[in-house]
Amino acid sequence: MPADVRWSDSVYRAGLMCRVCRDVELHELRYAGRILAASTCLRCGAVVKHDEGDLRKAYLRDLESRLRTKPHRMVKRAVRHPAKFIGHLPSAIIHKPLSLLEEAKPLVGSLAERARLLGRANQARGL
Ligand SMILES: [Zn+2]
Repeated sequence: MPADVRWSDSVYRAGLMCRVCRDVELHELRYAGRILAASTCLRCGAVVKHDEGDLRKAYLRDLESRLRTKPHRMVKRAVRHPAKFIGHLPSAIIHKPLSLLEEAKPLVGSLAERARLLGRANQARGL
């Protein structure tokens, strides 16, 4: 992920070459976990999106990898900084599920959009 201005948990900004503007412009980068989901040129609005199916697969593969290595990373953290680890544990237990939901928003958004379009198509067919 870019070490640029952090916008929120899953949205960053960075200067990238825009294929429409043909210049380096500020882009908004949306991540699903550690996977780049989409970039939007803040000058012209051109969007480059990760393919929906590939994004879902890549995100789930990445999430599986992070979950598999989480116990090892937690033990390393606990050994390295025990007091800090214990101090942050209650907050982490509360906030981790919320941060997982936040990072999965690009996936949920595309599923919600598909459900909305399907509902509209069914409505048009009288279903
Ligand atoms: Zn542009």
